[in-house]
Amino acid sequence: SDHQLEYPKSPYAMDWESFYPGFVNQETGKLNKKVEIADIGCGFGGLLIDLSPAFPETLILGMEIRVQVTNYVEDRIIALRQQHINNKDFFKKYQNINVIRGNAMKFLPNFFQKSQLSKIFFCFPDPHFKNRKHKARIITNSLLSEYAYVLKEGGIIYTITDVLDLHEWMVKHLEEHPLFERLDKNWESQDECVKIMLNSTEEGKKVTRNNGSKFVACYKRLNNP
Ligand code: SAM
Repeated sequence: SDHQLEYPKSPYAMDWESFYPGFVNQETGKLNKKVEIADIGCGFGGLLIDLSPAFPETLILGMEIRVQVTNYVEDRIIALRQQHINNKDFFKKYQNINVIRGNAMKFLPNFFQKSQLSKIFFCFPDPHFKNRKHKARIITNSLLSEYAYVLKEGGIIYTITDVLDLHEWMVKHLEEHPLFERLDKNWESQDECVKIMLNSTEEGKKVTRNNGSKFVACYKRLNNP
């Protein structure tokens, strides 16, 4: 349950400096960039850790609703930063990723400004199989409008799941939304993030071990009409 969660009044009320100390400007004490990639329901953080070296200059944030899981990811990132701190070539390694506890279905625009994000990932979201539970799914019409708000024009929503029914649900809602357009299989086959997303998350590894299927759908955030 999430009723004890605290939400910032606005993105400006967040102490982002404490999340990315390696990117704080020594003179101003401030970050000179904003989070650009979000991993919603990041679980144990495998995607964050593999995205980190692929986008070394981009700030990446995982959002996770479970307390213990969030704490685990925090510890994992602290340990990785420690291991790499003395390596001069990789001084900033893993400084560009962090995790926050939060319910992404509530108040996402309190964390991110309009058009702030270039990529949002939904990797193996909870399927909520029962019909009466479908409204709890992480992709719905009204949530898509929030995702469109925080995504910049040309930004991308990445989805992957092993549950065909959920895949079809996400595609249906994204297709219906006027601000999203599907990227084709050819685009998917050339995109670095699709490759990472297929193999990096803990859930994705489990699906591989069980020889399960992985359904991918990526959508571009269109320009405002
Ligand atoms: N993305 C990870 C992966 O692929 O390994 C985790 C997948 S796991 C099946 C789904 C995760 O989403 C869980 O860790 C769950 O706690 C988290 N989650 C579910 N609803 C959420 C919400 N509204 N906001 C943030 N995280 C959520």
